[in-house]
Parts: sequence; C-alpha cells; structure tokens
Amino acid sequence: MYASSSSGSEDEDESIDSYRKGGYHAVRIGDSFHAGRYIAQRKLGWGQFSTVWLAYDTKNSDYVALKIQKSAPQFSQAALHEIEILSAIADSDPSHNKCVLRLIDHFKHAGPNGQHLCMVLELLGDTLLRLIKYTRYKGLELNKVREISKCILIGLDYLHRELGIIHSDLKPENILLVSTIDPVKDPIRSSLTPILERPEGNQNGGSSINIIEKKLKRRARRAVARIAGRRDSTMESEGNGKTKRSLDGIDVRCRVVDFGNACWGDKPFADEIQTRQYRAPEVILRSGYSFSADMWSFACTAFELATGEMMFTPNEGQGFSEDEDHLALMMELLGKMPKKIAIGGALSREYFDRHGDLKRIRRLKYTSLDQFLVDKYHFSTSDAKEFADFLSPLLDFAPEKRPTAEQSLQHPWLSNVDVAVGMSKLQID
Ligand code: ATP
Ligand code: MG
Repeated sequence: MYASSSSGSEDEDESIDSYRKGGYHAVRIGDSFHAGRYIAQRKLGWGQFSTVWLAYDTKNSDYVALKIQKSAPQFSQAALHEIEILSAIADSDPSHNKCVLRLIDHFKHAGPNGQHLCMVLELLGDTLLRLIKYTRYKGLELNKVREISKCILIGLDYLHRELGIIHSDLKPENILLVSTIDPVKDPIRSSLTPILERPEGNQNGGSSINIIEKKLKRRARRAVARIAGRRDSTMESEGNGKTKRSLDGIDVRCRVVDFGNACWGDKPFADEIQTRQYRAPEVILRSGYSFSADMWSFACTAFELATGEMMFTPNEGQGFSEDEDHLALMMELLGKMPKKIAIGGALSREYFDRHGDLKRIRRLKYTSLDQFLVDKYHFSTSDAKEFADFLSPLLDFAPEKRPTAEQSLQHPWLSNVDVAVGMSKLQID
C-alpha cells in the first residue's frame, strides 16, 4: 500500500487510461453524490488512488473536498484503512483544533467503472510544497517556519500520544494550508456561486464545462482583485541579495493530511515507509521504527520550509546505491553514526562494514548543521545556531533519543509563537 506518490499537480493531469473498470470514476461538473447531497464543482487534484473534487454540500450549504477512490479491490481496501484512521482522528477531536485533516462523511458511489469509496473531507487549500514554490524555493521567513512547525507538532502530538498513530509519510506535500495562496481559487473568498445541477449541454464532459468554468473564474477574479493586490509584494532576503517573496497576508495555518500510509504504532505493517528524502535512518537499515520516524521527517520538512531545499537528496552513483548515498549525506551533516546503530539493522551489512564505516563511500565531507545553514543558505550565525539547536535533537540517529512532538513544542525556538489552530473554514479575516 505504500506509495511515494507524484500526485495531483496543476501542471499535469491524471492519465485518461486510468478511467476504466477498477480505475477512476469520471465526474462531470454538476454531478451529484450521496443521494443528491454533494454536487461536484471542479477538480482540486488527483493521486495514484483517487481524484479529489471541490463539491458543494447542499445539506450544510458549505464547500467540501470529495475524494473519489478508484474502484478495484486494492484501492477500496486502502480507502477503508484510511477511513478507519480518519474516523479515529475525527472521533477523538470533536472541537477540531488538532491541526489534522477532518473526515466529514463517507459513502459508496456506483458508477460505470465499479463501486467507488468516497470520502468527504474538510476543504483545505494549497500544500506546503506549493508555498515553498511560491517563495521561488528561497524558503520562508523563520517566523512563518515557527508558526507552521508548531501547527505540525500539535498534529503529530495528537496522532502519536492520544491516538497511537504513526503518519509514516510526513512531507510538505502532505501538509495542507487551511486556505489557498491565491484567493481567486478559494470558493468562499471569491464568492463562488455553487453549481447545483449539471449545466445544460454538458453531456460528454465537453467544452461547455470549460466555458462555464472560465466564466466563473473571471467572475471570481474580479471579486477578489482587491485582496489579491496585497499578496505580490517582494522583499530582499538578508545577505545574499536574492529576492524572496513575503508571505504577508497569507494564512499559514495548516493541517496534516494523507493517512493512506498511516498505521497504528503497535502494528506497523510495512517494512519500508516514508518518501525517500524524508526517510529515517532506522527505516533504511530495517532496525524497526516507531513514532520517532515521523519526528525525523518533521525535521526534514522544517529544514525545507526554512531553506526552500530538501535536506537530503540522495542519488545512486558509481558503485553505490541511493540508500548508501543517503546514509553518507546524513553523516556528513549530522556526524558519524554510532557503530552500534550502524550495524544494528537487518540491512546494515549491505552498507556498513564491521567497524561501522560505509563500505563503498569512504571519504565523507563533514560539516555541522549550523555551519551549513550559514555557508549555503546565508543564515545569520544566531539564526543558524538557534534553528540547528531545535533540529539537531530531532535528527538523532538513535530514534529513542529524539524528542517527542510534545517535548519539541516546549523548545525555546517555539516560545512566543502563537498559532490559531481552530476555525477550519476558509474565510477572510
Ligand atoms: P497519493 O498518490 O498521494 O496517494 P491519493 O489518491 O491518496 O494520492 P490525495 O493525496 O489524498 O490522493 O489527494 C490528491 C490531491 O487532491 C492532493 O494532492 C490535493 O491537491 C488534493 N486534495 C486532497 N485532499 C484535499 C482537501 N481536503 N482539500 C483540498 N484539496 C485536497
Ligand atoms: Mg495519498
């Protein structure tokens, strides 16, 4: 079930070939679901397992995200697992202030390609990856990184301590802002009028949809031109003179999403979890993992928010594998892995000799995290020191030594950071 996916960007579409028996359900704008309660408005995104639609909930007069799973048994199985986890999350957090995606409803929908499990989710905005792109990969101001980090940690603390759930795939793509960066794309801020029935002539999903969509977009754009104006300001980043977009006016409250790979802490089911760049060393070495694997991915995510670049981007090379390169990169930044840990995993022998040295990558170029932040990303010495002081313990090679989410929330780097966690609705403040 594990998938390090390349899902739903606006640059590409899902494959048409996947609209077949067992695959995606074809949706036309205005289609209704669950006995007429939800009406499809437009596509929000897609993944390997599903397409996700902006839908109007006629019962609550509200917008929601409708995730329609592919219909083959393995996809239904995965959706049932996701629903189980999301239901546990929703049940224990009735006030909904834990920074985790909320499941509103779920049901089955029969279509020409089979029976599709559907999840009705709270409507969220852009992913943190899009936010990083928006900064032109220069990274966010540290105060925004603090705010976002606190929100993610509140979510992780809830998952880990109260529910016993390991997320297993934490990364910027799987953390969604509660709001869109571009207010035009926000159905509430752009005062979109919901479509309540299939527009006339929309029989085959043809060009009439596009015309209507374009009209709606134009109307929405006019309505929010005023708000949009204040978002394009740029500012000089300190030191290196490159421009960095300011996030003034962008709401950085966020939610942890995508529980397709999540598991109960007492019964992990996959040996290999996490997307490559965010994968913890104990997962690579097959030494067993727990909640602390999420803390590693969290640290990689916070680093990426602050610098605009992934912390580790391993590559296969001549005579060594991607895994070995990954371990080498970790040690260059974090110091040599203690021998006991290096040789303690089921796959240790593939990468380490009996002294605990990498077999094929012999010469490592060590640096320290704070020096790296100064040299490569032009952090001031004090910013670098404080940030590294927050991150380093989370990147301990010994999983049990990493601070928990609860402990991380107490770190001085996060003191004086206020996050408004409540209010799930997209709205203008
Ligand atoms: P994957 O290939 O990642 O396993 P998936 O089929 O499980 O994908 P998701 O990753 O859950 O699907 O969602 C696909 C896309 O839909 C996301 O990348 C995002 O753009 C959009 N999306 C999902 N949930 C929401 C939501 N609650 N609000 C707004 N957009 C959403
Ligand atoms: Mg997914």
